[in-house]
Amino acid sequence: MAYTPSSGTSQLIAGPTLRTLSSAEDNMGGFIAPENQSKPQKQAPFPVKLKNSGPLLDNSGRIATDLRISLTDKCNLRCIYCMPAEGLQWLPKDNLLSAEEIIRLADVAISELGVEEIRFTGGEPLVRADLVDIIAGIHALHPEVPLAMTTNGIGLEKRAQALVDAGMTRINVSLDTICPETFAKLTRRDKLASVLRGVEGAAAAGLSPVKINAVLMPGVNDTQAPELLDWALQGGYQLRFIEQMPLDADNNWTREGTITAAQIRALLSERFVLGATSIERGDSPAQLWEVYPLGTELDADGFPVDGRESLGQVGIIASVTEPFCGACTRTRLTADGKIRSCLFSQTETDLMELIRSGASDEELALRWREGMWFKPRAHGKNSDSFTIEEFAKASRSMSAIGG
Ligand code: SAM
Ligand code: SF4
Repeated sequence: MAYTPSSGTSQLIAGPTLRTLSSAEDNMGGFIAPENQSKPQKQAPFPVKLKNSGPLLDNSGRIATDLRISLTDKCNLRCIYCMPAEGLQWLPKDNLLSAEEIIRLADVAISELGVEEIRFTGGEPLVRADLVDIIAGIHALHPEVPLAMTTNGIGLEKRAQALVDAGMTRINVSLDTICPETFAKLTRRDKLASVLRGVEGAAAAGLSPVKINAVLMPGVNDTQAPELLDWALQGGYQLRFIEQMPLDADNNWTREGTITAAQIRALLSERFVLGATSIERGDSPAQLWEVYPLGTELDADGFPVDGRESLGQVGIIASVTEPFCGACTRTRLTADGKIRSCLFSQTETDLMELIRSGASDEELALRWREGMWFKPRAHGKNSDSFTIEEFAKASRSMSAIGG
């Protein structure tokens, strides 16, 4: 019997394991009908008793344990879904957190606020000359905390071993195509060979699994999705497709131009069969599928009737059409020392001024808790669910926030 990955019921703001699309939503390209939306919620004031201790709790009851640190807003690529061709106005050097300040804030996050894992991002984190010192500094204080990085991979092959030696444990390399012409069109730079060397260098340095992040754009690289998956499976890399979000600096994002999770599954089904997985999703934003060759017959639960092994897994992060805001565990620190409770936040909490004014760890932790308490419920808004038109316009674009 044929198994349809997209069958099931939509669950907005539910835990990650529950989300799949209804057929009505599929007919809308995966977007949620306006009549299914609920009214904005009121936010509770920050409770005084929470001020001086405890984790990063927000007024919807979520606790942030996963810290994203943007190390720089600069980048050596110009991906069309992220940056304008001419780049952005870069932050002045004095406005960037120093290595010592980043290490101190990471220590506060772990020791005072219960952060359990840290991912470095940007801009492009490899652009920072002191990246290895930052990782080594945090690792020396907290060797138990996993340190990960999201990178475009340029120059990674030369630095991967030093990063691993410093304490880096996980890596995601962003790569949307393995076609050199498409890569040049998407990133506005002719650098595919360097990224591919970076991916190989990461694996050679012992980082496992090497995860690959890919964004699909209609008419640019969408039809290459099966080819990219084939390449990833052959190399032993774990590919994850991310729906494009309205966070591009050029403001070109449109609902029609978003390749939805349902469409990604359909594209991949031209060359593979996607089946259910028994791997626990936990609070991961990526829904995983087992990948089989065409012709594989699946039972009603999505497993092969002949019990064959899969070729590997593929992940799909449906941030737009199957949101997981209700299970969000993230807190973000920008390169200029601002806390953002959500990618789509319109407000930020400044820690740079505080840290430079000689504040104690307790004062920094208190300000951080306050900033997180008002985390919006979903995609920058305080409603339980939203239409695509209701996406809050983030106050910065992706590369300036740290994706
Ligand atoms: N420069 C690094 C890189 O590209 O991996 C780190 C920063 S980048 C902003 C982090 C991730 O955000 C990348 O995987 C990138 O593909 C993704 N990204 C950027 N703009 C996006 C958008 N508008 N929608 C969805 N993902 C986006
Ligand atoms: Fe740079 Fe990453 Fe943005 Fe591409 S996605 S422009 S590599 S920051």
